[in-house]
Amino acid sequence: MSRVEPFLVHIRCDTDGYTHAVTEDEFAAGRHDGRFRAVCGHVVLAAPMIEEPGRFDPVCRDVLRTPPSAAVPRQERRGLRWRSRR
Ligand SMILES: [Zn+2]
Repeated sequence: MSRVEPFLVHIRCDTDGYTHAVTEDEFAAGRHDGRFRAVCGHVVLAAPMIEEPGRFDPVCRDVLRTPPSAAVPRQERRGLRWRSRR
């Protein structure tokens, strides 16, 4: 709990059925449209909440696991598992 991470919203996309991760900023920006740009670059059309949650998008998961800005050696990154993974 010591690491500060951007707040992420998980939204299921109506077009591909995957649940994508959307940052707080993108969520705020896309709110009125109902479209959100996920961390993987996919534009999410929010699915109705009555549907079952989809699978988490593997591309999003990948992006979250390996932030492009992080210049951390691979071995050190290993301990940083994506939280929802447990
Ligand atoms: Zn995604």
